[in-house]
Amino acid sequence: MGSKTVEFKTEIKDLLNLMIHSLYSDKDIFLRELISNSSDAIDKIRFESISDSSLLNGEEGDLGITIVPDKEANTITISDNGIGMSKEELENNLGTIAKSGTKEFVNKLKETNSEDKANLVGQFGVGFYSVFMVASKVEVTSRSAKSGDVYKWTSAGEDSFELEEATKETRGTEIVIFLNEDQAEYVETFKISSIVKKFSNFIEYPITMISDETIVEKDENDKDVEKTERKEEILNSQKPIWQKDKKDVTEEEYEEFYKFISHDFNGPAKTVHYKAEGVVDFSSILFVPEKPVSDLFNPESDYGLSLYVNRVFITDKSDFLLPKYLRFVKGVVECNDLPLNVSREIVQKSPMIEKIKKNVTSKLLREFANQLKNDKEAYVKFYNEFGVILKEGLHFDYANKEKISDLVLVNTTEAKEEQCTFADYKERMKDDQEFIYYLTGSSVEEMLTSPHLELLNKKEYEVILFSDPIDEFLVDIMAEYKEKKFKSINKGDLSELGEEEVSETDKVKFDGLVGSLKDIMKEQVSDVKISTRLVDSPCALVANENGTTVHMEKMMKAMGQEVPTQKKVLEVNVAHPIFVAMQTAYDTDAKDSRIGEYSDLLYQQALLVEGAPIENPADYAKKMAAVMADALK
Ligand code: ADP
Ligand code: MG
Repeated sequence: MGSKTVEFKTEIKDLLNLMIHSLYSDKDIFLRELISNSSDAIDKIRFESISDSSLLNGEEGDLGITIVPDKEANTITISDNGIGMSKEELENNLGTIAKSGTKEFVNKLKETNSEDKANLVGQFGVGFYSVFMVASKVEVTSRSAKSGDVYKWTSAGEDSFELEEATKETRGTEIVIFLNEDQAEYVETFKISSIVKKFSNFIEYPITMISDETIVEKDENDKDVEKTERKEEILNSQKPIWQKDKKDVTEEEYEEFYKFISHDFNGPAKTVHYKAEGVVDFSSILFVPEKPVSDLFNPESDYGLSLYVNRVFITDKSDFLLPKYLRFVKGVVECNDLPLNVSREIVQKSPMIEKIKKNVTSKLLREFANQLKNDKEAYVKFYNEFGVILKEGLHFDYANKEKISDLVLVNTTEAKEEQCTFADYKERMKDDQEFIYYLTGSSVEEMLTSPHLELLNKKEYEVILFSDPIDEFLVDIMAEYKEKKFKSINKGDLSELGEEEVSETDKVKFDGLVGSLKDIMKEQVSDVKISTRLVDSPCALVANENGTTVHMEKMMKAMGQEVPTQKKVLEVNVAHPIFVAMQTAYDTDAKDSRIGEYSDLLYQQALLVEGAPIENPADYAKKMAAVMADALK
């Protein structure tokens, strides 16, 4: 029996070289790749035996994959009774004919930095050659179902491989992996079992591990004796639950599956199990966790659904199947119209992927809308956990902007702590109400006492109280809800409320004082105006129509962003006793030093009311104490 030595094709040499020398982590996937090849080979024999039943040799019932670890030899043997390979097939498939994607993959690997490389392998189906990440030598003995030939392919993953005739009684392929010394962990049954469960749990054929187990027994003299027992164990669950009918899956099964894919300790808050048919065919189970499972605000955190193609696990981080604003969702998609073993880049670009993503997104938004309608309590719980993230969609998903805006919950001066939708607000709007009024601040409680509300309260107009840091940005993006424009009540003017005119008498009466205040406070504020929005409070800081509010500036600073503080307009309520008194003092002596002191106190108070820090608390306290002492005289 002669053997021949064959050189690997150049691209494959490059690939092997890169795999062995530049990939350090994610080695586990070699097992997934070999199992997936075995599963493919069994698929093939099953298919071809439909027209030629002699191929099976009466073994149909026992189609499967076997894994045998051998600690002493430091080897793992993986066998299947699939279609097998003839001499030519061994030569071509494992070394001389490079597939079209190989070169592209090699280039991609070369240009990726080392940390991402390992990632890349998990995302590309790198196939058979990934075995050389863990092996010093590999022997593939195969008996082709068609020709009956038996040949052995052997290689150390360097420049060449050997081919020689061999013997094998049964149909199919047997791969012996001689593990590198420093990769002996892969011979452990626990390791094998956990990799199979993670990557190949839903392979259709049984994956049986046969191992020797050492057990200790007592002999007749009560002495310990070690015995070796052969143990056979099927590692995979075989039937994927997303392919089952909804009515055949129990709550417990969903929960177990959810925990398996999400690593959550709790069960899911919501489960959506469905099959899509038509534009794109796929099966899916989507889960909404009760609470975030990972840090949703860390841009480094992975997210995405698990993607299966023909029951082969591709990746559990297919972020290309979910818009980022739904990153809290866990789940699985199986689509058999996608090609297996292609690069992530190609998968991502597949028009099929966009269709799946679109379908999954609509389905989820519809489910949320139904929950809001039918079980508000559950929806509020969901919203309080994930609403902040969902709202990002208003900015990023233009096509679904309207649907998402209908899912937003807000507090208002009517609804207070009870949250309502924009639709609820719109329904309660007064007949003559032109705008949806809102205020932004750090808490609902604080906003409910804001001076900005005074005029609207008096007119009984409901005001939305936005307290999420991103709300002020979002409302800018939304601009309107169902043709009603949003309007901030602490920006610009509220002339549409019909009380815009400051009476001529007030203008004349307070002209001197207001001019003097403007002069005293020119460093702090852009203008001092007689207010029409204040009823009880003495003054308030108002932003320009397109400017940033005090709250927004505080938020941006908290996020570490340097924002130039825009000077605000100080609106003063001349009906308030303090201004009446100040005016009297001014009339008596325009240079009365109390005017400067009091105006500073009023400005500091206006800042406090906005929840912003005052410029000099100690100075403020001192001035305040002096005023009190004066008053008590
Ligand atoms: P892919 O699976 O994407 O084709 P691989 O590198 O994993 O790429 O495998 C190369 C080829 O080798 C397969 O297409 C198949 O023809 C052949 N092959 C690998 N393993 C087996 C096996 N266990 N039985 C039969 N053929 C196999
Ligand atoms: Mg393969």
